[in-house]
This record gives sequence, structure tokens and C-alpha cells, in this order.
Amino acid sequence: MKLFDPVVYVENYDGLKMMKFLERAARTCYKSEGKISDDSYKRILTSCIQSGHESVLEHEKVSIKLFGDLSIMQSIPRHRITSFSNESTRYCNYGKDKFENQIRIIKQPHFEEGTKLYKEWEKCMLNIEESYVKMSEAGAKPDQLRMLLSLSTIGEINMTCNIREWRYILKLRCSASFGHPQAKQLLIPLLLKFKEDMPELFADIDYDRDFPKEKYAKILPLD
Ligand SMILES: Cc1cc2nc3c(=O)[nH]c(=O)nc-3n(C[C@H](O)[C@H](O)[C@H](O)COP(=O)(O)OP(=O)(O)OC[C@H]3O[C@@H](n4cnc5c(N)ncnc54)[C@H](O)[C@@H]3O)c2cc1C
Repeated sequence: MKLFDPVVYVENYDGLKMMKFLERAARTCYKSEGKISDDSYKRILTSCIQSGHESVLEHEKVSIKLFGDLSIMQSIPRHRITSFSNESTRYCNYGKDKFENQIRIIKQPHFEEGTKLYKEWEKCMLNIEESYVKMSEAGAKPDQLRMLLSLSTIGEINMTCNIREWRYILKLRCSASFGHPQAKQLLIPLLLKFKEDMPELFADIDYDRDFPKEKYAKILPLD
């Protein structure tokens, strides 16, 4: 069994260029293109967000890849105004050499290493792996084998959505009250990156500030 930390891969984007492009869309509405200056995007984008004129934000998108677990693969694709390509447990056979005959597991943010809970969880993962590999050797197909997999198994998702939908997803999934730990672990660091690169578009979105920073997923470039 191989254990991994979660990662968010983010495409290379130019936040300033995107905000200036959104400004042009907004100014089409009022025919105020003549007012464009170096920093005029700041006021107009903040005003669009505050007034609910958010369709303007649909003209730019960001693609990412989540390297998380199957619980994430189950919940994040519920967002309908987003495009997804998911790793398929129907086609990947983790009992084969390509996967070094091992299932790949994401370290869970709410099981602390060394605790009783962690040991039970680890034992369960190892039992699943043993049965998975034995059944694979006996000729079972991935379609059959995947019925053994736990929600802690790695699930990779490519997702692309526009800025309006990113705002919606991040507000919902990073919130203190309702977001689940795996989503917060992946999406709070993404929100923080967006806040830094595109403050006028994400500054108003709050997140669970009590979620431990040391558990944040790494943010890496998407090649
Ligand atoms: C804490 C939490 C717990 C959850 N628990 C469960 C659960 O137990 N069971 C379960 O099945 N799901 C659950 N969900 C999933 C949830 O119900 C949504 O399916 C998911 O969050 C996607 O969000 P959405 O449907 O609001 O928006 P998206 O699909 O991202 O769409 C964005 C917005 O577009 C609009 N929109 C999109 N499609 C329509 C439509 N057909 N009609 C009208 N407006 C539309 C809405 O305004 C929507 O908010 C949970 C989600 C969270 C965050």
C-alpha cells in the first residue's frame, strides 16, 4: 500500500490579465471602455460582485487537477456548471505492475498517525489491498475489483470552471460550518492562491480559519 499527501495542481494563469479581460466584458454593458486605466478593473469588478452582476465573471476560467481521495471524487463532481475528467476505477487495475501491485491511499486529515483510529484505518486499508491483489491474480477485472475500494483510495479529477462557479464552489466547500475535511484540505489552499492572485475576485470569500494549516494540500503547477 502506498500512502500519499493530497495535492492540487493548478494551470498557469495570469490573474491580472484575466481581471482586465473581465473588466472589458463589464464595461461593454455600460459602454464605459473609455474609462479603462491601469487599475480601473479593481473598482468595476468589486462593484459587479457587490451588486450581483456576476455573469461578467463567466468569461474567464481556471483548470486544476485534484489529487485527492474517492470521497472528493464523489462530492465535487456534483457541481454541474463544471467540466470533469476523473480517474476511472473501472479501467485502472491497481493489482497490476503498472501500479506496483499496490492500492494508492490518501492520508486522511482526521486520523492522526499513531492513534488507535489511525491503526484501525491502516489495518483496514491493508486488508483491502490483500484481497484486491489476490482477486486480481485470480483474474478479476477492475470493474469487479473496484467494489472493494475504500473512499480513502486516490481519485484524480481534472476540473475546469469559470470564475463565477469557482466563487460558488469555494464559498461552499471551504466554509467553517459545512465543508468536509478532505474538501477543506484541498480547496482552502486553492482559495488562498486565488485570493493572492486575483484579490478583487476572491477577497470577500471566507473560509474555516481553524482548519490546521499543516494539513493544507500542496499547490503545484499543472503541466
Ligand atoms: C455540506 C454539504 C453536504 C451535502 N450533503 C449531501 C447529501 O447528503 N446528499 C446529496 O445528495 N448531496 C449532498 N450535497 C451536495 C449538494 O446538495 C449539491 O449537489 C452540491 O453541493 C452541488 O451544489 P449545487 O447544486 O448548489 O450547485 P452547482 O451544481 O455547482 O450549481 C451552481 C448553482 O447553479 C444553480 N443551479 C444549477 N443547477 C440548477 C438546477 N437544476 N435548478 C436550479 N438551479 C440550478 C444553483 O443556484 C446552484 O447553486 C452536500 C453538499 C454540501 C456542501
